[in-house]
Amino acid sequence: MPKKIKVRETEEGTTLYSIDPIIMLWHYEVNYVHSYAQDSPFFTALSKGKLLGSACTHCPATFATPRGHCMNCGKKTQWREIPAEGVIHTFTTCYFGGEAFLEETPYTLILVAFKGFDTLLLSRLIGIEEEQARIGMAVRAQFLRNSKFLATDVYFVPSV
Ligand SMILES: [Zn+2]
Repeated sequence: MPKKIKVRETEEGTTLYSIDPIIMLWHYEVNYVHSYAQDSPFFTALSKGKLLGSACTHCPATFATPRGHCMNCGKKTQWREIPAEGVIHTFTTCYFGGEAFLEETPYTLILVAFKGFDTLLLSRLIGIEEEQARIGMAVRAQFLRNSKFLATDVYFVPSV
């Protein structure tokens, strides 16, 4: 008779929220020293309740999602403040999300268009039911009072 070989098992269980599909509690933690480097002014501005995009120093291109170099001509850009109000270019409601959004899932992601900027900014729409979101709806940026220096420090609410 072959010797019975088994891996050592532990006694703790697994927290399952759903079996089909399997949704389970999964602890994950790591400390990580991160630099925003040349993107730092964007996050500093968020902590002061401002949005920064960028504008090309050579051609008329402007970027609501800031870029260090122009997507059109490749030259350097400079920081430019974005107005706090814009309009929803498009949106989607997410029924599954990452850890940062668990408490507000389902949540609505929006791409916001701003006067004077050629590209869009991705953010969250807060304060209305997802079926009330509309393309062209005027929205206003709001900022966390206690900045985390993360892109999620800014979110949008309907302007009216
Ligand atoms: Zn350019």
